[in-house]
Amino acid sequence: MSWILTAAKAICPLCECALQIERPASPPHWGLWRCPVCKKNRGWVPTPPEELHGWVMPMGRNKGLTLSTIAGRTSGVEYLRWCAENLKDTRLRKVIATYLQQLEAEAEKVSV
Ligand SMILES: [Zn+2]
Repeated sequence: MSWILTAAKAICPLCECALQIERPASPPHWGLWRCPVCKKNRGWVPTPPEELHGWVMPMGRNKGLTLSTIAGRTSGVEYLRWCAENLKDTRLRKVIATYLQQLEAEAEKVSV
């Protein structure tokens, strides 16, 4: 699960500098988080970060809705958290987990 944490804040756990996305990456990955200082790989990026809000849920009771729409609904974030842990589709779990981390990172920025 360490890749989620590093992708979330996009900060290297070793030297704490901002990670960069290296592209292209081997499919089905979109990119690779990489630390420009210690040169270590910090996990896959499943989809372009700026596209996560508009990413459409392909299955379940929220099928056809974007992640930001789902997150804005009652219990939507809880539902996405459940998906990120329980869905069988590994890539889908990563996309949703990355989106949730991005939401939390944005919430932190606002509260600072
Ligand atoms: Zn580093």
